[in-house]
Amino acid sequence: MTTIDDLPIRDDLRGAKPYGAPQLDVPVQLNTNENPYPPPPGLIDDLAEAVRKAAARLNRYPDRDAVELRKDLADYLGHGLTARQVWAANGSNEIIQQVLQVFGGPGRSAMGFEPSYSMHPIIARVTGTRWIKGSREEDFGIDPDAAVKAIEEHRPDVVFLTSPNNPTGTALPLEVVERILQAAPGMVVVDEAYAEFAREGTPSALTLLPGNPRLIVTRTMSKAFAMAGTRLGYLAADPAVIDALLLVRLPYHLSSLTQAAARVALAHRDELLGTVNALRAERDATVAWLRERGLQVADSDANFVLFGKFQDRHAVWEALLERGVLIRETGPDGWLRVTIGTAEEMAAFRAALEAVLEGVL
Ligand code: PMP
Repeated sequence: MTTIDDLPIRDDLRGAKPYGAPQLDVPVQLNTNENPYPPPPGLIDDLAEAVRKAAARLNRYPDRDAVELRKDLADYLGHGLTARQVWAANGSNEIIQQVLQVFGGPGRSAMGFEPSYSMHPIIARVTGTRWIKGSREEDFGIDPDAAVKAIEEHRPDVVFLTSPNNPTGTALPLEVVERILQAAPGMVVVDEAYAEFAREGTPSALTLLPGNPRLIVTRTMSKAFAMAGTRLGYLAADPAVIDALLLVRLPYHLSSLTQAAARVALAHRDELLGTVNALRAERDATVAWLRERGLQVADSDANFVLFGKFQDRHAVWEALLERGVLIRETGPDGWLRVTIGTAEEMAAFRAALEAVLEGVL
C-alpha cells in the first residue's frame, strides 16, 4: 500500500499532521467555538430564495470581487469603512493564507504570541513562511515591552495578534496593539474572530485603521454570526492591502452561493447577533462557576473558557466525553477549553464536570 511517505511531497511537509479537532457525534458539542443557536426560520426561508435565484445563474462565474457582499460587510463593520477597505474569502483561514501569500513566503517570517490560534503557524508553514514563536505572560496577556523587544530582535514580516485570543479568551488593550504597530517593520494582523463576544470596554483594532496602512483586522461569520457552515471570513485594511491581495487570490474563489448566503445572514444580523448577549452571560456564569469549584480560569472576552489545571487533562477530557460532553484538549499543558453553548448544554457540562471532579481530584 502506498503511504504519504512514498510520495514526492515537499520536504518541509514531511511528518506534518493535518489540523482538526475530532468531529464526534455526541449530544453536547462544545469543542469548536461555534454558536450553538441554529439559523432562525426567516433566515432559512430567505436563504433558500437567494440560493434559488443564484442557482439560475450558476452557468456563470460569480462576481470575482464580491462587491455587493463587501459593501454589506463594510456597512456591518461601521467605522466609516467602505467596500474598498474590505476583502472576503472562504473563512478567515483563507484570509490569513492570502495575507501570508502576499506578505510572507519563502525567505520571510511571521511571528505570533503563544499560546494562540494554532492555524497561524500552520498556515505560515504551508506558505513557506518561517514561524517565530513569541510568548505571553502568566495571565495570557502580552507584555508590550517584551513584545517590542522580540519584534526588534527578529524583525518579522508579519506579526499576528489574536484578540480575543484563542484558546485563552484574552483581549488585548489597544495600547498594546499600537505599541506593536509602531515597532513592527511589516504587517500587523489583528485576528478578531471573536470580537463580537468581547466585554464592554474592549474596543476593536478597527479604530486604529486610519493612517495605519500596515494594519489588517480579520473577522469571521463562523462565530458570533452563527454561520460556520457558510465559510465566510473577511478583513478590513487600507485599499492598497486589498490591491495586494488581488495578486494571490484565485479567480472566483468565493462561490455565488457563498456570497448569497453571507448577504442573507448580514441582512438578518440583528437576529443572529441577538444570541451574543445570552452567550456572554452564559460565559461569565461559567467562569464564575469554575472558579467556585476552585479551578484556575482565564478571563474570557470570547465564547469559550480556558480552565485547569489538571495533572492529566486527557483523562478529564475523556471522562467528559464518556458523559456525552465534547470539549477541546488544547492550550498549555494541564488546561482544557470549553465552548459556550446553550443554557441546557452548559448545565450538562457542569453536571458532567462535577461528577468527573469528584472522581479525579
Ligand atoms: N481565527 C481564530 C482565532 C479562530 O479561532 C478561528 C476558528 N477556530 C479562525 C480564525 C478561523 O475561522 P474561520 O476560518 O471559520 O473563519
